[in-house]
Amino acid sequence: MTVLKVTNLSKSFGGIKALKDISLEINKGEIIGLIGQNGAGKTTFFNLLTGIYEPTSGEIEYDLDKKITSKDLKPHKIASYGISRTFQNIRLFQNMSVIENVLLGFHSRFKYGLASAVFRLPSYYKWEKEKYNHALNLLEKFNLLDKKDEKAKNLSYGDQRRLEIARALAAKPRVLLLDEPAAGMNPNETKELTSLIRWIRETYDLTIILIEHDMSLVMNVCEKIFVFDSGTLIAEGTPDEISKNERVIKAYLGEETEIC
Ligand code: ATP
Repeated sequence: MTVLKVTNLSKSFGGIKALKDISLEINKGEIIGLIGQNGAGKTTFFNLLTGIYEPTSGEIEYDLDKKITSKDLKPHKIASYGISRTFQNIRLFQNMSVIENVLLGFHSRFKYGLASAVFRLPSYYKWEKEKYNHALNLLEKFNLLDKKDEKAKNLSYGDQRRLEIARALAAKPRVLLLDEPAAGMNPNETKELTSLIRWIRETYDLTIILIEHDMSLVMNVCEKIFVFDSGTLIAEGTPDEISKNERVIKAYLGEETEIC
């Protein structure tokens, strides 16, 4: 089943064509890799999927009936449809505790009326307690429970990246976008991340799209890869197909990057 369908999507910034006429489909439950050299348009693609940018032209359909390009669709609305993300530069609230950071991730999921919150009605306490228990549960699964009261800024880099993923999962997404999750990680942490990504997909039954420069991670964990080059989709296929694709090899040769 198709979960995301992108048709003729383009985005320009003044004279810069960051994305040119991208069309692709992503199936439910897939782990997708989005690769390409710096400036290829990968983050712009994520920003369009999450409503941060408005496309210059083209369409994005989510679950095949909700268009997420119309002007009135704001990022929080898209989040409520079940698209959640992490950022290339970690965006945690550094002076807040680990558990507070996760609690913030629930905002689009748990709702009680203004009156409940102002007058502290029973429904308010019920949701707050449920939220807290869910947060503890997530932290336990991410091996961060013993650090729940630590300020985010005191965590190791790898822990901060995992905390960001835990926070994104708090919103109970159906599509999880990870922007360079392995950036700054050491080889051991990257190896653990590979298992974590697989485990997240199995446990939460979601679709994962990741932007990544670490080819070992991409080739190990992704079932399908899309390759962007200067704003154009130049190839799509399995890791095996991509590693043998001449156009991809050529696009990467400039940087002498090993594809597999
Ligand atoms: P990297 O791997 O370095 O993160 P990327 O593939 O994510 O690169 P983008 O960040 O999407 O690439 O950038 C694509 C192009 O669009 C680049 O030329 C970039 O300078 C440009 N661009 C992206 N965002 C903006 C913006 N807000 N204003 C102007 N130009 C932008």
